[in-house]
Amino acid sequence: MDPVKVILANPRGFCAGVFMAIDVVDQLLDVTDEPIYVFHEIVHNKHVVQRFKDRGVQFIEHIADAPRGGIVVYSAHGVSPEVRAQAADRQLIDIDATCPLVTKVHAEAIRYAQRGWQILLIGHRSHQEVIGTRGEAPEAIQVVESPDQIAALHIDDPDKLVFLTQTTLSTDDANIIIAALRDAFPNIKSPPTEDICYATTNRQHAVRQLAPECDLVIVIGSANSSNSVRLVEISEHSGTKSVLIDDVTELTPLTLQGVERVLVTAGASAPEDLVHALILTLVQQYKGEIEQHDVFHESVEFGLPGSLKQFMRSRGVDPTGRRISMDNIAGTNAFLSSHSIPQRLVDLTVKNSC
Ligand code: SF4
Repeated sequence: MDPVKVILANPRGFCAGVFMAIDVVDQLLDVTDEPIYVFHEIVHNKHVVQRFKDRGVQFIEHIADAPRGGIVVYSAHGVSPEVRAQAADRQLIDIDATCPLVTKVHAEAIRYAQRGWQILLIGHRSHQEVIGTRGEAPEAIQVVESPDQIAALHIDDPDKLVFLTQTTLSTDDANIIIAALRDAFPNIKSPPTEDICYATTNRQHAVRQLAPECDLVIVIGSANSSNSVRLVEISEHSGTKSVLIDDVTELTPLTLQGVERVLVTAGASAPEDLVHALILTLVQQYKGEIEQHDVFHESVEFGLPGSLKQFMRSRGVDPTGRRISMDNIAGTNAFLSSHSIPQRLVDLTVKNSC
């Protein structure tokens, strides 16, 4: 068997919002023995959710499933005001692990709706994030999933129209819809700042840049993870076959048949240890030779949410200094070195990204 060149896309995997949301539940487990309920999957990854279930965390889809006065955590995708009101009715202690970049889109929606604008929210109607954002101003917001839906929109004043987007869309797909919206409504306003987040953009750009040099792209992530599925689509659009796997157990010899160069990436909610397990298999069973290709350097981190700090103080715990810093690349380097796996670093960064 010839060696397989394994290209690790940097950045990949956990983004700052996912890291913060997981940290919230970790910290809660650390500071209290009370039952913890998480509204919806904390992030869209089956391993993350199962690991928390194994530690006693309960995941609910209805606020009514949390006992009165209990602790509920809102997932990284955010929730609508209706959910917050239901939690208040049940006197729940709510801890908000919504990604600040999702909260920013909520704030934009509220601001435009209050000023009497209509909002076209580009995204997937059934995704938790879109449900939450739409819930901020249901009368003012219409969801647009594709250009075909534009003709059926109800627009009162095309000069008071703005579009916002889900944070984890494919930038290519979003641009197609935005161009169609601009054709239909030339005065439509853009969001004040880009809604598709830095992590989505950077992971997609890395795949767009690296996939064409490879025969296969392996994306680690779950099927309900929007940004993971988008990575597969972007790879396929660039002409390189791609597979989405939850973990290395889904890899078969057939997947790698005839493959000389494989790109490995991971969705923003996929833990890096799953990538490590894949690397080990590629090295041990397929004579994998590892190259890390840096396309962007990221340094975004979010602090613990105020609601968690307040909860900690109420339980006599000082939140100062409890934040754990994230550094995916250092973790990978340590992993490779601990297994004596040689690697080559290729720096393709043209600028530092946030
Ligand atoms: S993908 Fe972007 S918006 Fe979603 S949690 Fe991560 S940083 Fe936040």
